[in-house]
Amino acid sequence: MTNGPDETPVISIIIPMHNEQEVMAELFARLVAVMEKIAEPFEIVCVDDGSRDRTWALLRQRAGEDDRVRPHRLSRNFGKEIAMTAGLDAARGQAVVFIDADLQDPPEIIEEFVKLWRQGYQNVYGLRTRRAEDTFAKRTTASLFYSVFNHLSDTPLPANAGDFRLLGPEAVKALRACRESQRFMKGLYTWVGFPSIAVPYERPARAAGQTKFSMFRLWNFALEGITSHSTVLLRAWTYIGLIAIAFGVLLGVWLLIEYFAFGRNPPGFYLTVFVVLAFSSLNFIMLGILGEYVGRIYQEVKKRPLYFLRDDDLD
Ligand code: UDP
Ligand code: MG
Repeated sequence: MTNGPDETPVISIIIPMHNEQEVMAELFARLVAVMEKIAEPFEIVCVDDGSRDRTWALLRQRAGEDDRVRPHRLSRNFGKEIAMTAGLDAARGQAVVFIDADLQDPPEIIEEFVKLWRQGYQNVYGLRTRRAEDTFAKRTTASLFYSVFNHLSDTPLPANAGDFRLLGPEAVKALRACRESQRFMKGLYTWVGFPSIAVPYERPARAAGQTKFSMFRLWNFALEGITSHSTVLLRAWTYIGLIAIAFGVLLGVWLLIEYFAFGRNPPGFYLTVFVVLAFSSLNFIMLGILGEYVGRIYQEVKKRPLYFLRDDDLD
């Protein structure tokens, strides 16, 4: 099974894999069937992310039988975001498709992805219309995450979109240029911009094996997502300081009126509160000012490109 001599792939399928031995046979069968139907030269870039089961052995065997399968192996478990980035760096196709190994992303939809890419879309993403297979806890925490993220970040994420998507050549080039090590890919897809379109699909349960994301890992992932795409939390302190000042001023004015206009002497307690407010608001504002600078330093060290240019005929 080959693409034919000297044929460079048009589409690269990228699959991050961590202990996925159970799903591989079915995954390759369905994926190859779909890709052969699409009839564009393709490659399947598999990135073994530090698996401890037979994933690598099976991958090597598969690559021996089919030279469109190109296995890569990370030196340890780096996590899905890094595994996908390694796949992106290794991909030779014009367009890439990210897909999970566990068949929760049905490969059959890739046909639709490719059609939309041919119309000019650079970011064609799968949108989950039903997540009944995810636990209630996962669905609620996921929607809470999207709402917090979208309030804090300048580039909002479409809720219920995952990594399952096709990226055209321009989006691929842009994404490769983002080299930050705290990577949150879902945020980067929207950050790079370009015409995007959703393809709805029903998300089935995992074909076999079990999820690699515990609740604790998801929590860390959410924190990483928010902190890598927003500096609002660093800078919010100025506003808290301003609110504290407002209360302090009101209290101070009231104390003065009581003393000078009415000749009354309010209990010392109020003066204490006034002093505490005055100094703590100064502290908050100083933290906010530091936050402004730290936030700017953070933006600068990421060294993201300043902009990308579009090159399509969509309106
Ligand atoms: N994965 C990975 N490295 C990890 C964890 C997961 O490459 O450290 C891969 C995994 O093999 C699968 C995809 O990421 O192909 C999604 O993982 P999973 O299905 O466990 O996540 P869920 O669907 O439960 O969110
Ligand atoms: Mg899964």
